[in-house]
Amino acid sequence: MTPDPILRVRDLAKDFTLHNRSGARIAALDSVSFDVRAGECLVLAGPSGAGKSTLLRCVYGNYLASRGSIRVDGTEIVGADHRTILALRRTRVGYVSQFLRAVPRVPAREVVAEPLLARGETRDAAFERADSLLDALGIPSALRGLPPATFSGGEQQRVDLARGFAAAFPLMLLDEPTSALDAANRRRVVALLEDAKRRGCAVVGVFHDEDIAAAVGTRRHPLEPVRRAA
Ligand code: ADP
Repeated sequence: MTPDPILRVRDLAKDFTLHNRSGARIAALDSVSFDVRAGECLVLAGPSGAGKSTLLRCVYGNYLASRGSIRVDGTEIVGADHRTILALRRTRVGYVSQFLRAVPRVPAREVVAEPLLARGETRDAAFERADSLLDALGIPSALRGLPPATFSGGEQQRVDLARGFAAAFPLMLLDEPTSALDAANRRRVVALLEDAKRRGCAVVGVFHDEDIAAAVGTRRHPLEPVRRAA
């Protein structure tokens, strides 16, 4: 029997209201449906403006979808209260974007360990896991005690990826998480994603780099810009 999908999206639509344009509405997503199961990596494809980032933000609960349904492990996201969204983010779903979230003054190792500490893991276990991810992503030990704010864009992006994958969530949402990486580091990220898929993580990703998409993607979901006002 096929297992239930970890992510189930049905007839999803998102319109934006432009308050600075007399409340004009534009449609960013219309009738999007797909399932993603454990161990799959769905690549969102399509030109700029097709709604790829908007879709990931709807799934993570940053944007409220206008219509349709998004279920993560059976829990409905559309219209869910803040507490439900935060609980899902603590236990089920991770999100890594191209925009670096450098927390001031907190050392890299702690930035990575934090999601595990928040889930009640011991400091030893959390820091051991942080070190193994930072090793896998090639962040030298000399940097780990320093805050990522001073790191290069590529180093910050790898710290963000390590943090995103620390808690081994069943669903990972990736929005161009490799845009600042060189070839050697992109290979490290491919290895990280392969590992996550092997342990049953479901991934939905937008990848800047076609080679990464081809290497890690198990399916593509094409999106086209919605060419109409909402
Ligand atoms: P992609 O990630 O595929 O490039 P986006 O999801 O960024 O596409 O954008 C899809 C459409 O939604 C675009 O027309 C964009 O201008 C619009 N859009 C995205 N975010 C907002 C927002 N916060 N407010 C208004 N319009 C937005």
